[in-house]
Amino acid sequence: DEKPLHVFLGDAAKRYGEKKALYFMGKELSFTEVHTQAKIMANYFQQLGLNKGDRVAIMLPNCPQAVISYYGALMAGGIVVQTNPLYTERELEYQLNDSGATFIVCLDILVPRVKNVKKDTPLKHIFVAGIKDYLPFPKNLIYPFIQKKQYNMVVKVDHGGDTHVWTKILEQTTPNYQPVEVDPKEDLALLQYTGGTTGFPKGVMLTHYNLVSNVQMSDAWLYKTKEGEEIVLGVLPFFHVYGMTTVMNMSIMAGQKMILMPKFDAGDVLKTIQKQKPTLFPGAPTIYVGLLNHPDLKKYDLSSIEACISGSAPLPVEVQEQFEKVTGGRLVEGYGLTESSPVTHANFVWEKRINGSIGIPWPDTDSKILDMETLEEAEIGDVGEVAVKGPQVMKGYWNNQEETDKVLKDGWLFTGDMGYMDENGYFYIVDRKKDMIIAGGYNIYPREVEEVLYEHEGVLEVAVAGIPDPYRGETVKAFVVAKDGYDLNEEDLNTFCRKHLAAYKVPRLYEFRDELPKTAVGKILRRQLIDSDTKKKQ
Ligand code: ATP
Repeated sequence: DEKPLHVFLGDAAKRYGEKKALYFMGKELSFTEVHTQAKIMANYFQQLGLNKGDRVAIMLPNCPQAVISYYGALMAGGIVVQTNPLYTERELEYQLNDSGATFIVCLDILVPRVKNVKKDTPLKHIFVAGIKDYLPFPKNLIYPFIQKKQYNMVVKVDHGGDTHVWTKILEQTTPNYQPVEVDPKEDLALLQYTGGTTGFPKGVMLTHYNLVSNVQMSDAWLYKTKEGEEIVLGVLPFFHVYGMTTVMNMSIMAGQKMILMPKFDAGDVLKTIQKQKPTLFPGAPTIYVGLLNHPDLKKYDLSSIEACISGSAPLPVEVQEQFEKVTGGRLVEGYGLTESSPVTHANFVWEKRINGSIGIPWPDTDSKILDMETLEEAEIGDVGEVAVKGPQVMKGYWNNQEETDKVLKDGWLFTGDMGYMDENGYFYIVDRKKDMIIAGGYNIYPREVEEVLYEHEGVLEVAVAGIPDPYRGETVKAFVVAKDGYDLNEEDLNTFCRKHLAAYKVPRLYEFRDELPKTAVGKILRRQLIDSDTKKKQ
């Protein structure tokens, strides 16, 4: 559909009106309310001088303001820059300078952090949103997102000067903004910084058309449950492209209610599922693992869940099967990356699916495997780099033609992931190109070793990485979190791995940890583990 993304909010308000669009900690907002408040924000942005193409950073956990300011900024002609609320000052400063954002919408407790970097960035205006802005009982509110040790005081912020308080804007502004002409295929809706799992974040330029088409593919593909009556559980953060597309934009375009959860807490999620009865639950493997391992799992009724899509990292088959058993719903694996809005492949929800595969390319999406040496299309079953082409593929990296040219060639996006295709056209991810371990001349894919370790009954979580080794180039190391109360030791794991893996793939080193470092969508940061390992040795 060649309409700007924000037009879909207006369409939803017309079509669904008073139907509830959001649920947030006991409070609900209708499609009309969300639309009207987005218009108010658009008007206010324009009164402050926002011009078409200006960048608006949004630094919020999942809350009503995250949805409203996103659509408001787009209506005003702005480009949204999603910012992780956990960014340190250094990361925030980098992103504001790189994107050139002149506006930011942030949580009140983040204001000190934003003000500290403001003078070193192009930032002009700070919009201040509070978790309690919409809540009926603001007393004794515990901030669910930011840890107490970081900010143990709620900051009082005054409206005036460069600081604009959300509730005051809503009280004092009309919805009469000036609609801006947008060319959906040319104009950017979003600068989405890559996860930074493997390097410095780059600003991915996504157009209105990129984002709209990915939601429409997703709608056509996955969610044919109860038309219009679905309820989506919004645990994935909207500041990451995965939650933004599959939860936030999806529910606006399809008229579904979304439940906003500002933070992943397994106990809270279980309670919320029982009470709010969501039918759809997009997530990531670590989220499902977290729920399955909650001590009170069996006490909750999770039977409302009908369909889940897992992306962002490989989904262990064990986890998939167990989660389907406890919910009675379907959990299928999909795949994507920031550079493609993000989804490019998925399994069917209701029909044939193949465990361990990422499925087949989505509607209007092409995909192929390229031989690493010849760059020709690889034979069926042979491992090479996965490339994709489709309307969801980015325009390029912001101010970075050099990096753009490395990954975009003739409309094909080179994903940096290694995989293969089977004779039925199903795709499989073997690992990231950059994560492949070369030990003593052998190529080892960490994921294969991890999958074996996941099958061990005492393993809760595991990450396998290549550690620099003067002798073998790299050596295989496993970082392991044991299940509660399980006495896990190196010998057991070693015997287990020897049984299931060729000798050269068996980890030489093990380290037991209480937890593993993760990104906002729960992806395990192998890079950080390697760095911490190297530092320890120095
Ligand atoms: P950066 O690009 O900054 O290093 P990142 O790669 O984590 O960070 P994202 O765009 O968030 O950035 O993640 C996309 C990557 O996630 C893919 O390239 C792929 O490696 C991985 N991924 C996504 N889905 C799956 C899946 N189902 N199985 C395996 N890997 C997946």
